[in-house]
Amino acid sequence: MTDTAENRQLDLASAQGLPEEQAAFFYLGPSKQVAEGVIFLSSFANVCAFINDGKVLLVDTSVERFTKRVLADLRDNYSKGPVEAVVYTHGHVDHVTGAEEIIADAQALGHGRPRIIAHSAVAPRFDRYRLLARQNDNINRIQFNLPADAAPFSNAKLTYPDTTYDDAIETTVGGEVFELHHARGETDDETWVWCPSRRVLCTGDTFVWSAPNAGNPYKVQRYAKDWADALEKMAGLKPEHLLPGHGPALSGEERIQDALLSTAHLLRSIHDQVVAKMNEGKWLEDIIREMDWPSTDKPWLQPVYDHPEFIARNVYRLYGGWYSGDPADILPAHSHDVAAVLVDTAGADPILARARKVRDDGDLQMACHLVDFVRKGQPDNREAWELWRDLFSQRAEAERSLMARGAFHSAVRDAEARLKELDA
Ligand SMILES: [Zn+2]
Repeated sequence: MTDTAENRQLDLASAQGLPEEQAAFFYLGPSKQVAEGVIFLSSFANVCAFINDGKVLLVDTSVERFTKRVLADLRDNYSKGPVEAVVYTHGHVDHVTGAEEIIADAQALGHGRPRIIAHSAVAPRFDRYRLLARQNDNINRIQFNLPADAAPFSNAKLTYPDTTYDDAIETTVGGEVFELHHARGETDDETWVWCPSRRVLCTGDTFVWSAPNAGNPYKVQRYAKDWADALEKMAGLKPEHLLPGHGPALSGEERIQDALLSTAHLLRSIHDQVVAKMNEGKWLEDIIREMDWPSTDKPWLQPVYDHPEFIARNVYRLYGGWYSGDPADILPAHSHDVAAVLVDTAGADPILARARKVRDDGDLQMACHLVDFVRKGQPDNREAWELWRDLFSQRAEAERSLMARGAFHSAVRDAEARLKELDA
């Protein structure tokens, strides 16, 4: 789906080695005018420009390193008019860190500083990013399989909004009215934008050409039910154009209804099943085993980023505690100590032999659990680390969810580092 050499270098997509048919989430296409004065600036985290009476409203800024290119495209091809307002759809760094570039562009053109409008929870999010910058750097290196020196949070330029709201707000740019609506979904600080006169909807990351990022195992809570509610509310407006936070724009009322409502259905189905089973007194691992997973057949529901199982886990986390239901786990020994006793009892060789057997029978998941005991219980066991590395390389190759692959790649890196130590 990527279409130029430059685009193919987009490091997030290429670092993941995503096959092109799965790459809609990472889509970078040419900018285009989707309706009179409505410009879709595809840019990994996309930017939407609304131009009316020579004035510009931008929805999102993209990530800093792409914003110059976005602005050059806007200025060369569509408008040299003042950007009067920038709306953040949420505070994720890929959507907001270009704000300084936009302010610099305004200064260079002799325009006033644009208003920056966002939900009131964006500022506390930025505060948290500052508090936990290095933790977030580390987590993002795992989640996106980034190089060891990547520091996307420590280096993030966070420009705080100057205009905030709680539930909904209207703003006017160039005489055109825009409705900004808050909903919790991927984040607690989301804004989706509706331009009624042009029937254009900017969803932010409420729609991203992937099974919704409502499960992310690395990050703070997501809100599956509120997300489904928001998608249904958007569908009720009958948009003609849908401009998503990631991936290509969608046009045509019927197709957009399908996109919004099928995504809502997936979230609601997972949410309602988890809630029903919690009310039956079930613990998380049994709930996961009993789920009737909704279809992810639609091109925008492919589990290429998040994973339906992660969504179920996050619904449970929203409503439940962290206790697994296993009394041995409420005040547990360290897993390495448990593994050491088990390996001492059963012997490393039989466990590793069984791991190879289940791997050869095709059960990589179980093979990983077995090797996990040995690499923890006997941290000097070379064979265990080699098997650990090989199993996770194999799983990384077969896995479609970027989030899961991130953890698999980190297992491979840990094994390689440990093997190097053992060689030294
Ligand atoms: Zn995003």
